[in-house]
Formats: sequence, C-alpha cells, structure tokens
Amino acid sequence: MLKNILVADDSPSIRNFLVALLEQKTEATIQTALDGKDALEVILSSPPFDLALIDLNMPIMDGVQLLKRLAELQFSAPIVIISGLSRQILGAIEKLSKEYRLNVVGTIGKPIDVSAVEHILTQLTNHERHRTVVEEIKTYEILDALQNGKVEPWFQPQVELIRRRLVGFEVLCRIRHKRHGLMLPQQFMQTLEKSELIQVVTFELFKQAITRFCSLPDAYQQCTLSFNLSATLFDSETFIEQLIQLIHDSPMANERIMMEITETTIATKPLNELEGTARLAIAGCGLSIDDFGSGKATLERLHSLPFSELKIDQQFLPKTQISEAQRALLESTINMARRLGMKVVVEGVETFHQWELVQHLGCEMAQGYFIAAPMPFESVAEWINQWQSLT
Ligand code: C2E
Ligand code: CA
Ligand code: CA
Repeated sequence: MLKNILVADDSPSIRNFLVALLEQKTEATIQTALDGKDALEVILSSPPFDLALIDLNMPIMDGVQLLKRLAELQFSAPIVIISGLSRQILGAIEKLSKEYRLNVVGTIGKPIDVSAVEHILTQLTNHERHRTVVEEIKTYEILDALQNGKVEPWFQPQVELIRRRLVGFEVLCRIRHKRHGLMLPQQFMQTLEKSELIQVVTFELFKQAITRFCSLPDAYQQCTLSFNLSATLFDSETFIEQLIQLIHDSPMANERIMMEITETTIATKPLNELEGTARLAIAGCGLSIDDFGSGKATLERLHSLPFSELKIDQQFLPKTQISEAQRALLESTINMARRLGMKVVVEGVETFHQWELVQHLGCEMAQGYFIAAPMPFESVAEWINQWQSLT
C-alpha cells in the first residue's frame, strides 16, 4: 500500500489536480513541492516516500537537477516523471535516470491523462504484491549459494524470424536464495561485478550449462549457447586463459559458444578487452555485442572488435506504436549490421505485433517473452518439443 507520496510541480493547477486524484485513488498522505529545491527539502525532512511525481520543468532547480541530486542521495522510491516535453526528450531523461540507477516507473504527459495515472498506480500496487526482495544480496550469501549448488543457468530461446527455427539459447544467471527464493541478476550482478566472485560464477554457469546441454539428444546439438561476459572479466588475464581452456576441454564445439559482451560497462582497460575478445575469436567462439545502442563508444567498438552478432537492446523496441524516428533507428541499425556481415538479434519481443515488425525490418533472430521467458534446464526439452510441434 502506498503511504507517502510526493508531488513536485510548479503549476498550482496541476499540483491540485494530482493531489485530488491521488487522494481519491490511494490512502496515502500526499505532500507537495513547488520546485526542485523545495522537493529536496521535503524529501530530506519527511518519512520515506513510496512514490514521487516530478515535473521536469520547474524553476530554481529543474527536474533534471533534482533527479541528479536524488541519485546522489540514493533515493530508491518509484519516480513518475511529469512533462509536456516531446517523447524524444522524455526518452533521454529516462535513459539518464537509468544511468543514475533511479527507479523511474513511468512518464505522464501534460495535460494529465487520468487513465495514465491510474495505470501506473495499479502497476505499482500489483508489483508491490508480487514483489520479492529488491535489495542486493550479500557477498557471503552468494558464496553460500555457490557452495550449495544454488547458482543456476536459466535458458532463453533465440529463434529465426522467417522459418521460426530454434537457433540457440541465452544463458541467464539465477540464484536460489534460502529465504528470498529465486533471485534475478538485478539483485546480485552489481555485488558480483565488484568482486572476483564474478569469475567464479561465470565459470560455474559455463560448466553447468555446457554439461547439461550436451546431455540433450543429438537433434539439439546444433543449438548455440550464448553467455554474458561482464567487461570487468577482461581485466583478468588468467580468467580469459582459463575460460579458453574450459571451452577447449568441453564436449561442445567452440563455434556453438557465443560470448555476449555488453556495451554498458566498458572494461577499465580497453586494450585488455581487445586482447581478450581477439583471443576468444581465435579460439573459434562467436562474439556478440550485447545491449547495442544503450552504451558508449558504440561505433568505435563495432569497428575495432571482431563481433559476429549484434543484439539490439529491448529499449529500442517500443511496447506501443512505433514512431517514425524509432523505426528509422531500428531499420538503419539492422541494415548497418548486415552490411558488416553480422547477424542481428532483437531482444524483448513480447507481442506478435513486435515479431512482425522486426521481421519486416529485416532482422534475422528474435528473443523475448513472445517466444518464451527464461526457463530452468528441466523445462528446456519440453519447450523445444512444443515449439517444434507449432512450427
Ligand atoms: P541481457 O543480457 O540484456 O538479458 C536479457 C534480459 O531481458 C534478461 O533479464 C531476460 O530475462 C529479459 N527478457 C527477455 N525477454 C524479455 C521480454 O520479452 N521483455 C522483457 N521486458 N524482458 C525480457 P535477466 O535474466 O533479469 O538479466 C538481466 C541482465 O543481467 C542481462 O541482460 C545481463 O546483462 C545480466 N546477466 C544475466 N546473467 C548474466 C551472467 O551470467 N553474467 C553476466 N555478466 N551478466 C548476466
Ligand atoms: Ca545478454
Ligand atoms: Ca538487454
């Protein structure tokens, strides 16, 4: 249940409208602020908020400055951005908020659409109901999980759009926690990447995933397995050495192993990354540039590292109607990748409409809930049977 809500907007009519609406729809205490500076003061002097609605265009301290200050304060409550600005500017602000690690749950345009506010409130209450823990797991808990076989690879299918043929699976890490149940990467990845535990966990996933996959009937042995490699791993020469050894020793053909390297975190020493990826490519593994479009040095990286596949981040695939600009971006990225001889995978395909769209734009492969959500190994064979019976 929402208890404390903050509404920060300099326009009295919008403030009053939102307060009246929130009073009607929730049982929360609602506080208001007239500008960013005022909002910050209210936040610092009140009990924790469980929702903040923030206007971007305010005097004295605008919404962007406020978001930055909130990030510094590690403000963790859900934030809704209110603004009359264009979708493009809002997109930029959403991206910025992600970088700041703020929890932006939605944006509302002006004039305010009551159903948009209602939608966000329902989502928040549903989420609250289904929420497992979102706080990060502690290092000793990860160690404990490793020792007890509770770090597991989950598998999400990747399929060809045209023939619907199954191409392979992305391996995604899950941790089974004694009290909190199944934990997702957002709850432990940061902790892992801060320590050398990321190396141990990555090895564990490689070993388990490959062993399990090789136990499947021969008919599935053409599938690829894609692993996520954190950029920090490239800073350890011994890690890359050992990984290559593991791949050589494994019963799986090296060409069937794809390394997904994300753009969002760049190795602290780019030369190490170049060296590491070159060695993995020489070993015969496929290299995939992950989350394409969401990070830094995009074009330069494409040019300098030997990637054979490009994964377009799900933020580029809109959930609703695609705008001309979004379509142009998607289309030109797909074309560019093809001209560079790379395969393109679009992530986050959730609906038939999106499936048709990316197929139409010339993309080869898709991954997303429309095809299947990540699953434990125990469900893989059954899923493959079902998929093949449909195609
Ligand atoms: P990613 O590499 O972009 O992986 C795709 C994420 O999108 C997965 O989240 C997947 O469950 C989710 N997803 C798949 N289809 C859909 C869809 O249709 N809609 C939506 N909204 N989401 C979809 P997950 O498993 O929570 O992983 C999050 C991120 O954590 C991954 O993003 C990856 O960057 C990182 N990660 C996961 N496993 C590992 C790992 O073993 N090592 C490293 N270094 N990173 C990992
Ligand atoms: Ca990935
Ligand atoms: Ca992604």
